[in-house]
Amino acid sequence: MAPNVSDSDRAAGTVWQRAKGRPQDTINDQNNNDACQSGSSSNHCDQGASVPPTPFRARIRWPDLFAQLFVHGGFLIGLYYLVTFQAKFYTYLWTLGLVWATGIGITAGAHRLWSHKSYKARWPLRLLLMFLFTICGQRDAYTWAHDHRVHHKYSETDADPHNAKRGFFFAHVGWVFLTPHPEVVAKRKAIDMSDLEADPIVMLQRRYYLPLFALLVIGLPVLVPWYWWGEQLAVAFWVCFTFRFTTTLNIAFFVNSVAHMFGNKPYDRSISPVENLAVAIAAMGEGWHNYHHVFPWDYKTSELGSYLFNVTTGFIDCFARLGWAYDRKSVPPEVVARRAAKCGDGTRFLSDEYAHQDAVWGYGDQDIPKEDVDAIVRTQC
Ligand SMILES: [Zn+2]
Ligand SMILES: [Zn+2]
Repeated sequence: MAPNVSDSDRAAGTVWQRAKGRPQDTINDQNNNDACQSGSSSNHCDQGASVPPTPFRARIRWPDLFAQLFVHGGFLIGLYYLVTFQAKFYTYLWTLGLVWATGIGITAGAHRLWSHKSYKARWPLRLLLMFLFTICGQRDAYTWAHDHRVHHKYSETDADPHNAKRGFFFAHVGWVFLTPHPEVVAKRKAIDMSDLEADPIVMLQRRYYLPLFALLVIGLPVLVPWYWWGEQLAVAFWVCFTFRFTTTLNIAFFVNSVAHMFGNKPYDRSISPVENLAVAIAAMGEGWHNYHHVFPWDYKTSELGSYLFNVTTGFIDCFARLGWAYDRKSVPPEVVARRAAKCGDGTRFLSDEYAHQDAVWGYGDQDIPKEDVDAIVRTQC
């Protein structure tokens, strides 16, 4: 979804750091007072005026912008090959298969497992999810989960990396090539990532991300069609790398933009995440975003009992039968119904019998993050 924390991030963080985390207006006031106390006799000091805080202005990170221009330009070239039927039949199947299969690495892996700990997975499943996730090319799982935790905790504030209040374009892709707000940099440091630091699969992927990117994001998708069914190398590159990569990327971006803007709010009308069927279909169950922001620990990321619009839940349940996924957290239907009645916009259409009846998690579970419980208790609608 975006590059790693870059030098310019760090630069922005340095400015913030130098001030020991104080807000900018406090820094300016302090500088002002220091100047006055050191004997300055200007009217400025006499009047006790303070310098107005400098508003944050994002700068373009040119390498990231060029990367986005390249992959989106490459998407168009790949699309041209596809619509003019210059690609071989198996290349269509391979590309479609990769988009769907590797997307599970994002939804069941980086999102529901590594960002939210909404279920637990044994190492063979974690390895499989990491393999699929890496093929998507959306940064390493640690960085992805790190930003996603910040997004949930500080949703739609200056500290939200893709704050939808800054507009559709920023939430969709602008945040990827603009310097982050100093609040994002500061809050990233406050997020506990110790669970992922203890996961060797996560840390290995982070450590060897660049060679893995070359091998699994470009090499494997491009060389398989070239070697196995004689696809032209150029067609394989623009279709199976840039077209495929950018398709998956934009589906993920839709969750940050569309699913924060266009839809209904059955569970909390006071927040901007919404339920959006189109995003749910494209992102294999990640479009039920109003529910997800209210109950982020639910491994289903929705209330649906049906797998039709939530393929990822079907995938996790399937591996739960094998014993590779376990401790799936859910929310009791009566809690959901109560919350919807209290805070929703009245559009909850599911009756409780369609919600999962085998809920294994809810209030009183020791795994509930304390801040989540506090947030629910504090909720005023
Ligand atoms: Zn989430
Ligand atoms: Zn969100």
